[in-house]
Amino acid sequence: MNIDLQLVEGLKTPLYWYDLGLLQSTLDMINDCIKGTPVRVHYAIKANCNPKLLKVIAKAGLGADCVSGREITAAINSGFPAERICYAGVGKTDRELIAGMAKGIGYFNVESIEELETLDELASDYGYKPSVAIRVNPDIDAHTHHYITTGLEENKFGIHLSMLDKAIEFAHKSPNLNLIGLHFHIGSQITIMEPFKILCEKINGLTDKYRKSGIEFKIINVGGGLGIDYEDPDSNPIPDFKTYFDTLLKNLHLSEGQELHCELGRSIVGQCGSVVSQVTYVKQGVGKKFIILDAGMNDLIRPALYGAHHKIQNLSAAGESETELYDVVGPICESADTFGKDERLPKTKRGDIIVIRSAGAYGESMASTYNIRPTAESTLR
Ligand SMILES: *Cc1c(COP(=O)(O)O)cnc(C)c1O
Repeated sequence: MNIDLQLVEGLKTPLYWYDLGLLQSTLDMINDCIKGTPVRVHYAIKANCNPKLLKVIAKAGLGADCVSGREITAAINSGFPAERICYAGVGKTDRELIAGMAKGIGYFNVESIEELETLDELASDYGYKPSVAIRVNPDIDAHTHHYITTGLEENKFGIHLSMLDKAIEFAHKSPNLNLIGLHFHIGSQITIMEPFKILCEKINGLTDKYRKSGIEFKIINVGGGLGIDYEDPDSNPIPDFKTYFDTLLKNLHLSEGQELHCELGRSIVGQCGSVVSQVTYVKQGVGKKFIILDAGMNDLIRPALYGAHHKIQNLSAAGESETELYDVVGPICESADTFGKDERLPKTKRGDIIVIRSAGAYGESMASTYNIRPTAESTLR
């Protein structure tokens, strides 16, 4: 386990606790895997934009995938080179599009024909020729695999295949835009390779088709989505990047000089973070016991928002052999403020330190101040 009582005892809770050693090992593994390949990895800033983590990731040589103007600013301030930044999002405002051009980002992942027209106009006014990749909604059969069902129902993302010709033609012909790639992102927390293989086949079909009309894409961006092991972070602290990159490289028909871009978020930062909290009460309910933590859904919203489950551990009761079933909840006035139901944990008492594991991605970055709670601080080791 990468966290123990000694490391966190006495620290103010709730707290985001990050293991920089694990983050560095994860980044080293990625760099080892992609050495000598056409793969370029962009870190999806939205997974965790803690500036201290961003600096470590930028230093490892990754690019950045941003989804707002302020994420672009955060990326640049943390040392990501502007030309290694790509910018996706269905609702980029004029102000954000102009800021992206002014900062000289690598390329825009354009998500609609309307956005393409707007960027074209702004680029013409601005006298700058931005590079664009067209974000495609690949319409992979929703029943193919349940992992990507949510990705497909999110129809607001990307340009539908039926409108793709029109978008590509517009971008290709525009004197104000530099069409450089196709972009995809099929979903998140994908732990098997099948959906990525299906994506690769779709991409091959599209690149073949457009090659016939004389359009070559310098960049194929497959997005992110590689999952992590939430139930057993100690056995699998680093995701299987080798299999992931091998799957993409084996199944995609890349042409000479073509770059393969990946936008990984969760798989880079997920396992290096934990939420550390203290037990405020162990409450006897009717037929059940509640562990009430000082951390709540405002600190980690994934269980409430997605029904996600994170491994919960009592660090103070390591030597305790007696166990009990508990519902582990936060202090917030919402029933959804629950981290686990019927969790088997060592006999727990008020004041014990409880950690919620695998909270490095979509924890701190999704924090809110609901109930006027303060934003938890972070500690890096
Ligand atoms: C969120 C997002 C990612 C990262 O997804 P992960 O599941 O964290 O890897 C990548 N690309 C885009 C466009 C995204 O919106």
